[in-house]
Amino acid sequence: MAKGEITINEEYCKGCELCVEFCPKGCIEMSTEKYNSRGLLMPVFAKPEECTGCTTCGFMCPDAAIVVYRFDKDKTPVSED
Ligand code: SF4
Ligand code: SF4
Repeated sequence: MAKGEITINEEYCKGCELCVEFCPKGCIEMSTEKYNSRGLLMPVFAKPEECTGCTTCGFMCPDAAIVVYRFDKDKTPVSED
């Protein structure tokens, strides 16, 4: 069961791919067809079941576009970055 979840604010995102590169679980992939309003290709949370809630993606994102949620065993959010 996933231990975490993320949201990506597409209007803040510039498609730099740092989150894709640094996720240790390979949860985030660049879409080949999803663009934001500025015409930039967007990352997608492609493997949510693998997410550990480690917060690396949120920490690495230069535009604060990612919010990370961590869950306890009942999937209750226990922290937010
Ligand atoms: S919180 Fe960690 S495991 Fe989850 S998507 Fe972000 S970098 Fe990957
Ligand atoms: S690191 Fe942030 S700005 Fe870069 S692609 Fe990921 S969400 Fe977008």
